[in-house]
Amino acid sequence: MKKLTWIVLILALLFALAVPALAEPAEVKTLRIIGTSDLHGKFVPWDYALNSESMYGSTVRFADGTEEDLHIEAENPFMTEAIEEALDGISHGHGGPFGCVIVRDGEIIGRGHNMVLADRDSTAHGEITAIRDAEKELDSYDLSGCELYTTGEPCPMCLFAILWANIDQVYYGCTIEDNADIGFRDEIFDELAGGRTELEDFLTCIDRDACLELFETYRNMEHSVY
Ligand SMILES: [Zn+2]
Repeated sequence: MKKLTWIVLILALLFALAVPALAEPAEVKTLRIIGTSDLHGKFVPWDYALNSESMYGSTVRFADGTEEDLHIEAENPFMTEAIEEALDGISHGHGGPFGCVIVRDGEIIGRGHNMVLADRDSTAHGEITAIRDAEKELDSYDLSGCELYTTGEPCPMCLFAILWANIDQVYYGCTIEDNADIGFRDEIFDELAGGRTELEDFLTCIDRDACLELFETYRNMEHSVY
């Protein structure tokens, strides 16, 4: 073979070896989830990303192995958005069925869902993640003039975080008792915190049926109890 042919062959071989090496990404520690959560730049740990059955959309995987693309419509459009957040969270294994949106002048300025499992953070309840999102959006710790919509009645931690944030009004779907029915410890903590009878005007239950449908979905899914 001619010298030139050898050179061409060697160059072609080097190119063939180099291209896959270039295409191979460096070691990836985190992976960004594309979905509702992408709007506020949440990252999930690599192993969660790997173990996630469905990374895009709210495809819910039930304990019997069946899957369903779920959308639950509430009467109040903001509660529908809170449910969407919750579905996004449970379909990715981020945590419990708790989604939340914060509204000012009829516009959603913050949203979030329970990230306790994904973030390994016992304080990452839906209301807390939504408050952080809204405060970042407004560049302020003061959410006066805002309403909060959440799929489950706030636990004492979230209730007091909501009060610290000066939120005007809370609308929740499922009650503290409903939260307890699907395995969460809200009732115990609420008793320790002394109940909430003085806050009755501040807390309004709406769209409980739509949120109960969400909770029922969660009950029938494969999920970790925490
Ligand atoms: Zn909470």
